[in-house]
Amino acid sequence: MTAPTPSAGPVAGGAPRRDILDRLDALRGTDLPVRGGRTMAYVYDSGLDGAEELAAAAQARFAGVNGLDMTAFPSVVALENAVVERAARLLGGGPDTAGTFTSGGTESCLLAVLTARERARRTRGVTAPELVLPTTVHAAFHKAAALFGLRTVSVPVDPVTYRVRPEDIAAAITPETALVVVSAPSYAHGVIDPVAEVAAEAGRRGVLCHVDACIGGWYLGHLRYADGLPQPSAFDLSVPGVTSLSVDLHKYGYTAKGASVLLFRDAELRRHGWFAHASWPGYPVVNATLQGTKSAGPLAAAWAVLEHIGTDGYTELSRRVHGATASLAAGIAALDGLRVLGRPEASLLAVASEDPALDVFVVADEIRADGWYLQPQPAFDGSPANLHLTVTAAVAGEETVRLLLADLAKAVERARALGPATVDPALAEAAAGLDPDALGPEEVGLALSLAGIGADGALPERMAPVLAVLQALPPRLTERLLPEVVGRLYRPEAGGPARAAESGPEEG
Ligand SMILES: *Cc1c(COP(=O)(O)O)cnc(C)c1O
Repeated sequence: MTAPTPSAGPVAGGAPRRDILDRLDALRGTDLPVRGGRTMAYVYDSGLDGAEELAAAAQARFAGVNGLDMTAFPSVVALENAVVERAARLLGGGPDTAGTFTSGGTESCLLAVLTARERARRTRGVTAPELVLPTTVHAAFHKAAALFGLRTVSVPVDPVTYRVRPEDIAAAITPETALVVVSAPSYAHGVIDPVAEVAAEAGRRGVLCHVDACIGGWYLGHLRYADGLPQPSAFDLSVPGVTSLSVDLHKYGYTAKGASVLLFRDAELRRHGWFAHASWPGYPVVNATLQGTKSAGPLAAAWAVLEHIGTDGYTELSRRVHGATASLAAGIAALDGLRVLGRPEASLLAVASEDPALDVFVVADEIRADGWYLQPQPAFDGSPANLHLTVTAAVAGEETVRLLLADLAKAVERARALGPATVDPALAEAAAGLDPDALGPEEVGLALSLAGIGADGALPERMAPVLAVLQALPPRLTERLLPEVVGRLYRPEAGGPARAAESGPEEG
């Protein structure tokens, strides 16, 4: 009898609960922290005691409930209506406003585009739909165009303010335009596009206009209730011409991940994005989102946290975030060698260098050693290399802001002494000459080793040299290489610390 090969062999079960949870905790030990405000991208911490625990308890109660069938689980309809109503009331909705709860900002953006494409096709006979996008919109809209077959029309933004110009949008609209998108605010620079002017241009031409308020909507909406603070320019559904809006609850709603709302002018618009199917032998299908089976856990968690924090609570959180962002922006501007890009109107900062001897990506590597994560944003189309900071309520409080500014000042000094990460110009030129569509495995391996990425996909400790290479490559080549890097990480045979224990003849 041949022994089973280890990779195909049976897996030992029955590990004790305590062991399993200890192993999960050990895995988390290598991650960035999700609480405390030092990870300034990807995570959102309200800093409030009990909010996260409440979300976890609500999530556990609804984890097994399936939002796929609202007739079997009416609780899902009740919770979703309550959450959507809340978002609509905050963000300029009226009696006709309709909405959908989705798994996140990307899904909200995808559905906004899909809905617009279907409406353009069905009501205007558009056969080659176009999506008009400022160059600063979130990547999710390019994903939507790629998935749903729309042609993107990119509109450059003002090189100083990073806001799109309404006349440039107007010039980009054609009879084939299905949707125009603006950001409130943009992820990269935290600035708000001229929503009212753009929506008016779109509306005048009978074209839909989506406001991507994924990251800033909940924050800016509540900031309006905070007396005495500067008010954001109008950006929501109350603006004439705005036909849909996305707002993520798992960002400044501080709810559990997997929570966003997509609002529509009315249910007649919303229905174009739904999928219904009765031509198969199974159950009749109607999906408002991209998922089939979907856990009601994130919805229940979102509802619970919204009920718990409430309008006054969110207003106070917005006030704190505003204060911390303003203090950080002022402190950073006062640091020699750094500047804040544009005039951020929300809670996001893009910090660039104004000194050729100072590489912001080296600053990011340096300050990471002090426990801060600032997110590198490579140079693109007039936007210089910079560091992104998402300021959440956990950053608020003079102590954290003071610590960050002090650590940043020291990191800047160390980065200056180290000098910028550089790329051999000859290598960069050779790489730039590669045709992304014709790369074989050898060229891929070569390009990755140039960036310091090994055959196992392991990233080097310091990211500045990798980012320097990445920045020197044409974006299309980078887009060819990124999946190769990640593909080297996701290999079952690579095993790793979470590998299942095997049982076989040897183990008995
Ligand atoms: C975060 C974000 C998205 C995408 O949201 P996910 O929740 O990450 O899928 C879209 N637009 C903007 C402006 C964002 O900041």
